Amino acid sequence: MKSVLETINGGTQYLEKRGIEEARRNMEHLLAHQLRCTRMELYTQFDKPLEEADLSPLRDALKQRGEGVPLQHLLGEIHFHGRDFICDGRGLIPRPETEELVEMILKDLSANYASAPSILDVGCGSGVLGLTLAAELPGSHVTLADISSDALALTRENAAKLGIENVTTLPSNLFGNVSGTFDVIVANLPYVPESEAETMAPELKHDPALALFSGADGLDLIRSFVPQAVNFLKPGGIIAMEIGHDQASQLHDILESSGFTEIEIRKDLCGISRFPFAKHL
Ligand code: GLN
Repeated sequence: MKSVLETINGGTQYLEKRGIEEARRNMEHLLAHQLRCTRMELYTQFDKPLEEADLSPLRDALKQRGEGVPLQHLLGEIHFHGRDFICDGRGLIPRPETEELVEMILKDLSANYASAPSILDVGCGSGVLGLTLAAELPGSHVTLADISSDALALTRENAAKLGIENVTTLPSNLFGNVSGTFDVIVANLPYVPESEAETMAPELKHDPALALFSGADGLDLIRSFVPQAVNFLKPGGIIAMEIGHDQASQLHDILESSGFTEIEIRKDLCGISRFPFAKHL
């Protein structure tokens, strides 16, 4: 019978051979998930023998991970800004950069909107961005819109799981079904150029294509979204977005020609100009 440590080592080698990055961390997550414990708890039971009832589903998960199924889909969950969200193929797997965007928005709102902001999240996907804002700002109301009914179902499941009630979900192609005006509009829209589909990592093929790609330069949706956003912002309202690594100067132009002021493309932790912020006067 294999012990916890032997299983970790064997699984790590298996994933390494298949070119999976951070093989050991992946293996530890999969085993901890199977044993319903934390990764830290694995370290206190290295000698414990594993039952076939645990090994068999683990082998299945390892095989899938080796074939490029994302770790987050196999775990069924992702930790985002202090909360565990359901994560599956109905929405884009949340990226760490988006946690940085949440931080920046919360910081700005604590300085400028002490009361109860109304917030719109366009293209909400799994809901991590809008739901985190709703949870962190209990006085706010957040409308989460997406064109994908699958994504909206996932958002609603996440809201229910986390007990977040100050939200509304809305099926909408960008602003198509949106009415009213908001203090804040946030968006992590698809921004990847279609040409990148062929060269991308196998894991990315498990994200919905609808959530990733937007035309030849990745900016089709954003070019349509930004000029419309001014009609849905209150005077003094702000827009906050996430974009691709080489799109900052184009975003600056799009925001400026749409009438936004105080345009700032903030950098992510890697130093990439990633988060456009602007104001509507
Ligand atoms: N950052 C993601 C990626 O490069 C794309 C997310 C998006 O299009 N909003 O895979």
